[in-house]
Amino acid sequence: MDINYKEPAPITDRENPFESMMERFELAARILGLEDGAYQYLKNPTKQIITAIPIQMDDGKIKVFEGYRVIHNDVLGPSKGGLRFAPDVNLDEMKALAAWMTWKCAVVNIPFGGAKGGIVCDPDKLSLGELERLTRRFTANLLDVFGPERDIPAPDMNTNEQIMAWIMDTYSMHMKAAARAVVTGKPLILGGSLGRREATGRGVYIVTLAALRKRNMDPSRSSVVVQGFGNVGSVSADMLFKSGMKVLAIGDINGSIFSSRGLNIPDVMEYFNKNKVLTGFPESETISHEDLLEVKCDVLVPAAKEDQITKNNADKIRCKIVVEGANGPTSAKADPILQEKGILVVPDILANAGGVTVSYFEWVQDRMGYFWSIDKVNTRLERMMLEAFDNVFFHAERYKQTLRLGAYLLAIDKVAKTLKLRGIYA
Ligand code: NAD
Repeated sequence: MDINYKEPAPITDRENPFESMMERFELAARILGLEDGAYQYLKNPTKQIITAIPIQMDDGKIKVFEGYRVIHNDVLGPSKGGLRFAPDVNLDEMKALAAWMTWKCAVVNIPFGGAKGGIVCDPDKLSLGELERLTRRFTANLLDVFGPERDIPAPDMNTNEQIMAWIMDTYSMHMKAAARAVVTGKPLILGGSLGRREATGRGVYIVTLAALRKRNMDPSRSSVVVQGFGNVGSVSADMLFKSGMKVLAIGDINGSIFSSRGLNIPDVMEYFNKNKVLTGFPESETISHEDLLEVKCDVLVPAAKEDQITKNNADKIRCKIVVEGANGPTSAKADPILQEKGILVVPDILANAGGVTVSYFEWVQDRMGYFWSIDKVNTRLERMMLEAFDNVFFHAERYKQTLRLGAYLLAIDKVAKTLKLRGIYA
């Protein structure tokens, strides 16, 4: 089990991610002239569940953990969203992430609503058995919420294929059926999809190249900095490196490295797998968390967590394009500062939608019981990401707004129109 949680590096001016999300939502709703009823409907999460999860620890004592599942909206289809296991998980964060999932699914045109969940825990301090009991009890508590046609969890920070397998098994035992489509991000042998693990990073790579084309920039003459070296950051860095971009710096929670000549990412991966840290990589210089984001480069990919580019450091960002691999890495207060500087921001709800897109493919394959080749997965992913990119660009130009607003406008308009067609059940 590869769960290696460390305390987060301090964030100097953490803003409430839900408020950050709401600021953009309200702006887009105003531009669209969203009627008040639809505004109220889309503003409030459909369901917010707080559940106590008692488990027996290895020492025989009972410990009670707190878990959340927020379903923001299910107008477009069953709700979809990851599960996060971390000590700083909280309801406001879940609400923001759930709403982003609603908008993200609408942006990439997949038939899902948005949800998010998590458990307040430090997986590093739990044994494998404790982690399994925690996951199974959480699933049991949410049996009437989860379901292939209702709500479909997936991995997020500090959750992985093994945890998804336990959820699928617990749910299946209760349903007395092999319910593969209840969860995505499963191991391949249990009905996972080829390409799911790399999908978010691959999506980041696809939209980065699309953004470079829009700016008439050649990847082989462009540089990139990546924050985060987990699932999203490492795959993005690797694929961007292989596209010919010079990776000037990368960093994770334990430290960041820089090389003006560029870092060879496959070599960095080998070093990282052996040493579990990036620092000390040959011919690289250690830099601080703050400096990493301020390195002069063409593309900056924040792929760690929320609120990394804020009103405190936005004016020090020295790139031409930001591609948001993480959810909410730029706070709402930083948006106008980046815009003023002429930085093109490819927003999270577009840039990191590759993961949920291949999760959708996984769900489709599970329901068909027929599995696609990696080429088919990657070709379909690329087509959907590029269609979404063009659609977002079209909306941004049409309303003379940033790409972020373009993405919100596209998403909110789509969900609001669907809501109107469905009407309100009374
Ligand atoms: P992960 O746990 O695999 O990796 C997170 C990385 O960020 C690690 O390298 C960690 O060391 C680093 N990190 C954490 N806090 C940091 C800090 N303060 N400073 C510098 N580095 C820090 O997680 P992931 O799956 O790669 O997810 C990263 C982000 O992408 C999250 O915002 C997540 O919600 C989002 N995301 C993930 C997926 C997916 O499919 N995994 C899909 C969409 C969005």
